[in-house]
Amino acid sequence: MIDLNANFPLQQWVCLPCGYNMIGKMPDVCPFCGARHDKFVSWEAGEETYRVGSTPVAEGITQLKSSPRLGLEHACYRIETADGPVWIDCPSAFNRTLEPVSDIFFTHKDFMGASNQYRAQWDAKVHIHQAETLSPLAAAFSVDDAFTGDFTSHGIEAFQIGGHTSGFTVYFYSNVLFACDFAFPPNKAMRLNPFSDKTEIAAGGDRLLQLARERRPRLVTGYNFVVDGDDWLGFFEGALKRAA
Ligand SMILES: [Zn+2]
Repeated sequence: MIDLNANFPLQQWVCLPCGYNMIGKMPDVCPFCGARHDKFVSWEAGEETYRVGSTPVAEGITQLKSSPRLGLEHACYRIETADGPVWIDCPSAFNRTLEPVSDIFFTHKDFMGASNQYRAQWDAKVHIHQAETLSPLAAAFSVDDAFTGDFTSHGIEAFQIGGHTSGFTVYFYSNVLFACDFAFPPNKAMRLNPFSDKTEIAAGGDRLLQLARERRPRLVTGYNFVVDGDDWLGFFEGALKRAA
């Protein structure tokens, strides 16, 4: 029997309005959304209440989300690569019964979820752009690979797009683009993420458009959606025009 708790911080709190995980002593207010501490639950209570469910998205790709919905949690995607399973982003709830992955690749710093606990349980490697690790929101989270620039790993192509956050990274795998919350909603009203520097996100958007035109993904996944790739391209071109 492995003593799971031996690997875990004694104290970790989950903010119910947003899903942000606070590691260590309970703060008075959530550093992400500002909710008061009476809206927090311990990670143990969170594990009991919130079950991470999995929905198939494409061959070898599933979307993971907590049920009931946990605040603003952004969807996680599990990819069964030829080199083994990995995640892109991470659920806010810790469920020790999930199937392990060897690596967690983040799009950006805002929703690192319970990645420190999954990392401890599975000895998983956490990858996020170096610029993202400088944020106070990321400071308490363990990172194994603070990468810079573009790279390929497990057959997944990673591109630093910046814009929404300076180290914002999108991933292409097979015929799927993983774009998290760079632009939404997935329809004609699509806008570039408004919590961003307007000039920088427009520049990042131009590069992402170029990459998507070259690769023509069949599907695009976001923080709470999966949409046809050609439809997304049209919506995204519209969002870039409106941002210009
Ligand atoms: Zn919060």
